[in-house]
Amino acid sequence: MIQLGSEVQYIKGIGPKRARALLKLGIRSAGDLLTFFPCQYQDRTIITPISDAYKQPQCCIKAAIGKSYERKLSKGLFLLDIEIFDNTGKAYARFFRRKNPYSKIDIFASIKKAFKEGKTAYIYGDSKAEPGARYIAVNDYEVVDCAQDLAVSFNRIIPVYPATESLSRKVIRETVKNALDALVPLYPDISGLIPEMKGVLKLKSCEAIRKMHYPESLSEAQEARRSLAMQEFFVLETALSLSRGQIKKNPKKQRYEIKKNLLTPFREKLGFNFTGAQKKAINGIFDDMRNVYPMNRMLMGDVGSGKTVVALSAVLLAAENGYQSMIAAPTEILAEQHFLTISNMLEGLGVNTVIATSSSLKKKADRERILSETACGAAKIVIGTHALMQERIKFKNLALIVVDEQQRFGVMQKYAAVDKADSPDILMMTATPIPRALAMTAYGEMDMTVIDELPAGRVPVKTYFTSETAAYGKTIEELKNGGQAYIVYPLIDESDKTALKAAAAEAQKLSKSFFKEYKVGLLHGKMNPFEKNGVMKKFKQKEFDILISTTVIEVGIDVPDASVMIIQHADRFGLSALHQLRGRIGRGKRQSYCFLVGNAKNENAARRIKIMTETNNGFEIAQEDLKMRGPGELMGTQQHGFPEFKAGDLVKDADIIEFAKKSASELVENDPELAKKEHFVLKQLINQRFYGKIKLINVG
Ligand code: ADP
Ligand code: MG
Repeated sequence: MIQLGSEVQYIKGIGPKRARALLKLGIRSAGDLLTFFPCQYQDRTIITPISDAYKQPQCCIKAAIGKSYERKLSKGLFLLDIEIFDNTGKAYARFFRRKNPYSKIDIFASIKKAFKEGKTAYIYGDSKAEPGARYIAVNDYEVVDCAQDLAVSFNRIIPVYPATESLSRKVIRETVKNALDALVPLYPDISGLIPEMKGVLKLKSCEAIRKMHYPESLSEAQEARRSLAMQEFFVLETALSLSRGQIKKNPKKQRYEIKKNLLTPFREKLGFNFTGAQKKAINGIFDDMRNVYPMNRMLMGDVGSGKTVVALSAVLLAAENGYQSMIAAPTEILAEQHFLTISNMLEGLGVNTVIATSSSLKKKADRERILSETACGAAKIVIGTHALMQERIKFKNLALIVVDEQQRFGVMQKYAAVDKADSPDILMMTATPIPRALAMTAYGEMDMTVIDELPAGRVPVKTYFTSETAAYGKTIEELKNGGQAYIVYPLIDESDKTALKAAAAEAQKLSKSFFKEYKVGLLHGKMNPFEKNGVMKKFKQKEFDILISTTVIEVGIDVPDASVMIIQHADRFGLSALHQLRGRIGRGKRQSYCFLVGNAKNENAARRIKIMTETNNGFEIAQEDLKMRGPGELMGTQQHGFPEFKAGDLVKDADIIEFAKKSASELVENDPELAKKEHFVLKQLINQRFYGKIKLINVG
């Protein structure tokens, strides 16, 4: 008997050739057809009189069939016009077909055979009114024997599926219909496990699936989608909840006590007070650290929200208790900068801090010192890049791992970090604020803290889309007032030599023309870390007024006096890159300006630029990014093993996800092993969909 997992060839009408074509659409098994949902619907519930057809772009007509006429339009293009009548008028049903002009095949044979004079046709198509005649470019049709007969694929809402060259929409529609008839009752259903949620219809999965393909109305299709989405998200959230439970199973070795012999002097030296959001985050982290189970927390905060000092508080709590911490950053510049800031902040506190990057590990003497201090436990804080993950770096009692800008690290690198300790407390940080729904699914097995408040006194950056000259003029004004400026050139690939040359040449040109009275520095990805750092340092110490750079400054850099940023070719950057870049300014008390220069002819580019000029809010920007690019791209699907949803929509279903998360946790609390008989199907679904993936999401 046919099963969900059977090959598609078991479905009526599918042979090896069509099976191969279906594979291109991602359909392997017969069951896959059930969740191959329409990309849109055609409303064929209303039959339009011929006299009104031209009033709308698409319509459905029911008419008597008359004579047919064939014409050659051009060398390879032919058309067939068939007269159609109803009691309001006459029009033509028109078919276009291509064929080799020398071929003898009658390409219209099957149509002419169906459209017998005197029968009745249902026609769906694009209506065109031409002088002298009206015609419908036929999209779909069905011929019945007489006017009283009802058509199967008319008088209803019809699903429209994505088609391919070798599979017409009609064939796909029939195939899906056959699969529905044969298989939909077998589709696993867990609706009985999910509590009622207001605003979401509770349907059995087979009913929801059927209605998504063949709804009575468009709103019914939407209701059915949400209903099925609930089941999908419930499965995911249960899996995540189980994974959280796993992490909490083994108590950790390290114990912390808040002694304040480092924390208090650190706080007093800072020169500012923590914001409310920072305090809350720190308290949450301390609670986690003092818990008997390892911390597994994501700290999310927009650029400039002050994540560094929050992480540093955790690091100091570890140090107070004699433990080592690791702080991993994605670039050498950022690691160096953390090293400098942290060394400054901790001056006089006697906390030994070292930096392990490929350049700091280059010289033998330095390398030996760093490796031995880390291995013997003398280094309490070890800051570094990917170089930290190397085998030869060993810790004595690493207890806390902080990963800054975690989205820049691959899953394997995170694993390698976690492997350096027994049962470490983990703090991931990100400035890529992702919408809540997405965060809950992507990081669902982590606890989450959001810093949703910027330090007081920050002046929001003003952003303009403007010409290059206007931007330069405004920049000079700012420089005269003691500000500093970044000019950023996009390089898709930092090793692209010609583009790099262009940026360097541009730097030369600008330093001799517009900015000849100012000092201009150049920073790019091809420089060695030592050179990069030298340039950054000079900029920070105001030896340069202007820093021309490729996107290497995108993350983390902190130069409070920089108040202008010109982004060249802004149209080529994605939203999150633009936001990250802009986050490099507006870090001090002065008004900062961001000038987007470029060509906004492309519709998407124009939209991105418009969003940037309208908001500084990272979450809003991420929401737009999600709408424009989809979750996969926003998160980097491949790296993530990010789950795909058939019915669920991360933008529209935030409420459902939240509800599913809550009720899934309750279920797992009652049955942590999913051992109960009624949870069998759920358990199976989790295994099918997430086996081997959840662990990846785990540290993702
Ligand atoms: P991000 O969250 O982007 O990593 P940083 O930690 O680099 O932000 O902080 C940005 C700037 O704000 C730094 O110069 C930092 O010293 C400063 N800062 C952090 N917290 C506060 C605060 N509570 N009040 C004033 N300035 C702060
Ligand atoms: Mg940062």
